[in-house]
Amino acid sequence: MVIGLGASGMAAVRFLHGQEMQVSVSEARPPDRIAPHDLAELRQLGAALETGGHSEQFFRDADLLVPSPGVPLDLPVIAAARRRGAAVAGELALAAGRINAPVIAVTGSNGKTTVTSLIGHLLRTAGREVFVGGNIGTPVLEYIRSGRKAETVVLELSSFQLEISGSFRPEVALLLNITPDHLDRHGSMAAYAAAKKRIFAGQGAQDTAIVGADDPLVMAGEAPGAGTVLRFGFKPASEARVTDAGVALTGMIGGVNVEEWYGLETTSLGSDINRLNAAAAILAARTSGCSAEEIRPGLASFDPPAHRMTPVAEIDGVRYVDDSKGTNIGAVAAALAASGDRVILIAGGRNKGGDFDRLAPAVSRHVLHLVLIGEAAGLMAEQLGSLAPTTMAASLEDAVRRASELARPGDTVLLSPGCASFDMFTGYAHRGEVFQRAVLALRNIRQRCA
Ligand code: ADP
Repeated sequence: MVIGLGASGMAAVRFLHGQEMQVSVSEARPPDRIAPHDLAELRQLGAALETGGHSEQFFRDADLLVPSPGVPLDLPVIAAARRRGAAVAGELALAAGRINAPVIAVTGSNGKTTVTSLIGHLLRTAGREVFVGGNIGTPVLEYIRSGRKAETVVLELSSFQLEISGSFRPEVALLLNITPDHLDRHGSMAAYAAAKKRIFAGQGAQDTAIVGADDPLVMAGEAPGAGTVLRFGFKPASEARVTDAGVALTGMIGGVNVEEWYGLETTSLGSDINRLNAAAAILAARTSGCSAEEIRPGLASFDPPAHRMTPVAEIDGVRYVDDSKGTNIGAVAAALAASGDRVILIAGGRNKGGDFDRLAPAVSRHVLHLVLIGEAAGLMAEQLGSLAPTTMAASLEDAVRRASELARPGDTVLLSPGCASFDMFTGYAHRGEVFQRAVLALRNIRQRCA
């Protein structure tokens, strides 16, 4: 029984059908909101389909439940099937033991996509045949089904995937950071942190854990995994130590004693945030056998993914920065720390269970004015409004206009919403594009008036 019919659910259906299992699918959306080609494929594969909700009747004969990452595990139908003795396995549990190449897996509250794509880029630049996927792009089950043979598989993993990852074992596992996110799903920080740390659960003595040494929750408790632990961060004790200009590597890494320097000042990874991300990726590439000479050109040619602290324009001395992917509190705090002390922050959207109070120190220190949008605007105003003058905006375009009226030369207008986008947009990319268009329209108007 595959629950949820997104990219991951469809991949699970194809994979299980290939394993000669009888597959059924239960999907909360009504049929008119499901892509016709998915419906056609399910018919062709002979998969029974329930839409518009999940019923105990439909789940009655299921022996194995495969919930998609978006599906809450406390659904009553899942609890009932479990009581009957049905097994629950996510896509990683199905993939465990079936991936034909060493796996580098990346998780964390923030930086997953940047680090995963950077590791992929570093390995490719070094001439490796790499598959990059998981939570981004192609699901891992599609890779297995394709019969492709990569030299290394690099996977971005979410807490939802890790919660039900069975005996999945990555040879190299990265836990970047743990700050509040998805608490509406996980219930508590403890449950969320435990799900993230499951990335190390299957590891053995020969495997490597790479951890963010500056993050108290990552470092709390027992040593991660059963193998080598490598640390990255600003702390001097880290094997990959981040400095103002780059990353210094020292210690036993990938079985060799190294002492190396990676300058990042002339690359697109120069920000505080991206130097940290680069340090994590360098450790992963080095552990996988790439040399410093192979890694350096990859660092120089990497193009960071869009909508993550992306500069859009400078208009009348005011910088406009698109951090639409800043969808949780940790990302906003990091974005503010990287944006100086004169920030007009555009934030808000759909709350993911975050407690915006936690942003109070960063807002007090960096924010001149808050401009709030979307469903969470009221709660954010309540929790942060005493720390900076606050304006409510009707739309993102309105927010850009109001921020531009408030800004003085030297200020930064930063979109870092701290929320999901689905109350007003189709996704974070759509939100970022609307922001960029509004900023560029503003620039055109100002140029015409000048
Ligand atoms: P994820 O895939 O975990 O969501 P992304 O690489 O897409 O991570 O970045 C998401 C957001 O987090 C962006 O706003 C980005 O600026 C911020 N970010 C990226 N790396 C880090 C980091 N190491 N620490 C804190 N915030 C980060």
